[in-house]
Amino acid sequence: MRANKTFSGGYHFKFEGYPRAEVVEMEIPSTVIIPLKQGCGNEVKPVVKQGDKVEAGQIIGKDAEGIAAPVHASVSGEVVSLDQIKYPRGVVNSIVIESDGTKRWEPLAGRQADWTKLSVPQIEELLYTSGVTSLDSQGIPTNREGSPLSARDVKHLIVNAVEADPYNLSLTVLLAEERLVQFLEGLMILQKMMPGAKIHLAVNSNRKELLAQFDELTRENQLLELYPLSPKYPQGNDEVLMKAILGGNYANASAASVVLTVQTVLQARDAVVDGKPLIERMVALSGPGWEHNLHLKVRVGTPIQSITAKYLKKTGLQRLVPNNLLTNVAISDLLPVDRTFDNLNAIPENTNRALFSFLRLGAKKSSYSKAFLSAALPMLEKTCDTNVHGEARACIFCGYCEEVCPVEIIPHLLDKYVKSNIIDEQLIRYGIFSCVECNLCSYVCPSKIHLAWNIKAGQQMLIENEFKQPQPAQCGKDAFAFHFAG
Ligand code: SF4
Ligand code: SF4
Repeated sequence: MRANKTFSGGYHFKFEGYPRAEVVEMEIPSTVIIPLKQGCGNEVKPVVKQGDKVEAGQIIGKDAEGIAAPVHASVSGEVVSLDQIKYPRGVVNSIVIESDGTKRWEPLAGRQADWTKLSVPQIEELLYTSGVTSLDSQGIPTNREGSPLSARDVKHLIVNAVEADPYNLSLTVLLAEERLVQFLEGLMILQKMMPGAKIHLAVNSNRKELLAQFDELTRENQLLELYPLSPKYPQGNDEVLMKAILGGNYANASAASVVLTVQTVLQARDAVVDGKPLIERMVALSGPGWEHNLHLKVRVGTPIQSITAKYLKKTGLQRLVPNNLLTNVAISDLLPVDRTFDNLNAIPENTNRALFSFLRLGAKKSSYSKAFLSAALPMLEKTCDTNVHGEARACIFCGYCEEVCPVEIIPHLLDKYVKSNIIDEQLIRYGIFSCVECNLCSYVCPSKIHLAWNIKAGQQMLIENEFKQPQPAQCGKDAFAFHFAG
């Protein structure tokens, strides 16, 4: 086990509405809406038409030439329409299936309970046809045509098991009972496919029991290197995580590195051993907007409405945000759950003006400022809503944005340059392209300055002015947005 690693900066969140380690299997929905673009890769083409009968697990969309994994019917039933879905980032075609209500699904051909008997091409075929190669920011590399990175070229497989976002899918749920051993089996399968890769597993340093279990189970076969990391945001960000693991090698090794989540490794194992296509996700209902903060096992394509109808609080308006609460945009409940969902956050809308908020103490008010009572009571759960809790003011040069920034740039300085319209090499020298868009600087700013927005705007202006800085390709990276500040 490696020594506890960390990065300078960051922030520990403790918001009310953290998901409990309880799992409920959602009933089969009467209708599913399957987007033809889900996760990493291009939109695929439909291979079914209106009126066709489909089985859960059957491929209903694919693109054999482009970088894309097939999509499947997540329920058995009938294709009732080919439609379009309006996402905040654009329109995506979709297939609507009316379900027959049955739970059965069609296993993939070629699965093998004793996966060690499978050849590498057979494993790759199962992973590709299951759809799991589209998961996470880079997907799972294979040696097939159309994969952005060849599995043979991968030198570092980094598994992100850190729980450092405001809300996280629980490892206690994901790795319960036999799933811990199955997770290690998933890693062995991936290692067979990526023989040149060293496996690194990053886990919160406060997860002592889990760390001890991993240590005991892998000590003899030396399957992986274990990294206990400080659970502060944004440790789970791919770039921040890669830097923590690869250290001084980061610049050279990052292009041959892949970061996968625990849920992805488990779904890869299920595809190869059980022949299970990617038809369901474990999703944590996070935030104070839910009646119960539990984990839902839900079929892909389930309309969010059918989840909110059952589990959302009946009083007040709630904002729905998938996955990382600090970096993702709000979505409508007309959208379906897709392969990329880990969390569905529900945050109460609060539009009350909070004039001179910085003068009022509050034990449950999330604030980085030491002037607030909440800073002295870090273990107390803080209120979470959509209000910025204060009015915009001029920068008071407190330095908080600089203190928390995980990539050690100076957000208030970049912000000043951008606002003054000084868009030149200075911004590059001050590291504007190192920003990982975690939004933490905006979150902690007591003057409520949208630093991260302005930094992003500065990057865009530099690119438009042809001061282009190459960025690592991240096909699953979400749109930039910000919801609230403490
Ligand atoms: S958004 Fe960018 S500048 Fe702000 S804290 Fe995160 S990495 Fe630093
Ligand atoms: S946190 Fe806000 S007020 Fe403080 S230095 Fe940064 S921009 Fe200025």
